Amino acid sequence: MQENCIFCKIAAGEIPSATIYEDEVCRVILDIAPAAKGHAILLPKKHFANIFEIDKETAGSILYTASRVAAAMKEALGCDGINLLQNNGPAAGQTVFHLHIHIIPRFENDGLLPTWEQGSYADGEAAEVAQKIQNCLK
Ligand code: AMP
Ligand code: ZN
Repeated sequence: MQENCIFCKIAAGEIPSATIYEDEVCRVILDIAPAAKGHAILLPKKHFANIFEIDKETAGSILYTASRVAAAMKEALGCDGINLLQNNGPAAGQTVFHLHIHIIPRFENDGLLPTWEQGSYADGEAAEVAQKIQNCLK
């Protein structure tokens, strides 16, 4: 647990929350300022600031949990789809620096999340970029 981390305290149950699910690895709660009713956030109980710090065991467990909650949300709310969203760093929109996954119910034409303009690669550029990233894989 990290001092002064609100998500550590919520995940540990020290601050009350609208909890959907809890196990030894994580807690899933309703977001306090939801994009849509039912919008949930999954908080690992271990403190990781972001995806760059997470361990393999936690990563596997929380994605599986997110899939179960997404299925429950679809059935309970009758939504047409679900977005999993996970922001890392201020440039990516992260505002609370304890890793979390947003689980957001989506309805046809709800216009909730912006779509991006599709870009393209010049000849050979995609292979170059893929290789550059692959070279840094640990
Ligand atoms: P992010 O921008 O990805 O860091 O998301 C942080 C999210 O946490 C936002 O959607 C906030 O509404 C949500 N949030 C912040 N504080 C709380 C809280 N005390 N309980 C529930 N959700 C919270
Ligand atoms: Zn924390």
